[in-house]
Amino acid sequence: MAGFADKRQWGPTPRYDRVRAYEPKQKDFIVIAGPCSVESETQINYVANAVASAGATHLRGGLFRAGTYPNDNYGIVSQDLFKAFKYAAGVYQLKTVIEVLDAHSLDFVLPYADCLQVGCRQMQNYSLLTRLSRTNKTVFLKRSPGATIDEFLGSAEYLLKGGACTPVLIERGSATQATHVRWDLSISMIPAIKSISQIPVVVDAAHGTGRRDLVVPMTLAGVAAGAAGILVEVHPKPELSLSDADQAIDPNKFKELMFSVGQVRNAIRGI
Ligand code: PEP
Ligand code: MN
Repeated sequence: MAGFADKRQWGPTPRYDRVRAYEPKQKDFIVIAGPCSVESETQINYVANAVASAGATHLRGGLFRAGTYPNDNYGIVSQDLFKAFKYAAGVYQLKTVIEVLDAHSLDFVLPYADCLQVGCRQMQNYSLLTRLSRTNKTVFLKRSPGATIDEFLGSAEYLLKGGACTPVLIERGSATQATHVRWDLSISMIPAIKSISQIPVVVDAAHGTGRRDLVVPMTLAGVAAGAAGILVEVHPKPELSLSDADQAIDPNKFKELMFSVGQVRNAIRGI
């Protein structure tokens, strides 16, 4: 294959054999929705109900997480909220997705998580990836804003090394010189990865733009490009979100988005 991949292949063998050989275990469309941070029992129940009735499959919610600025709020870490999160997801038959920051906190998170999220800042935390590769969980791996396709797939290769976890990749935008967005969603990453690997790629246009008004069009663009799912931040009152307030959408907008996602999926079926 010409271009990007060739430049980086030192030696005769591809660097990510497992990624190339991967055969997906389940092929259902993935819809991860929920607040950036879990803020209260009331908030998470309300959101879980709203997103489940609009067709979400997974409930997200920051509990253990990290962001760019240490003094910002990233959710109130309490065991009660972990329990409330798991309970709300269970009531509405959603799978839980919880970010894990390091191998050390994994044991705490595991009982509450059907799926684990590796945030973009941990994409190359190889001890964490190695540990996760031995769990029997679905692991959502976010691309670091500066990572090349090879670095991203190299990290996915770590996840496959232990032979136990089910990897899913998330495209969540690049650091560029653009000033109209916080991060710039790299839509081309989706079909480019699909040409190499069958590991599903989810589009995250919330972090991939940082702008509420761009979440719908860019999510649809990702779906049109062949994304295997979407990640959206949904909050009852988006502008009051404890974290990532600029990119959250409300439940009504999420419902509209889900309708449009269905239309785009129908339109590209068979292409
Ligand atoms: C998040 O999903 O809320 C998050 C912090 O994502 P990222 O790691 O992509 O910044
Ligand atoms: Mn967020």
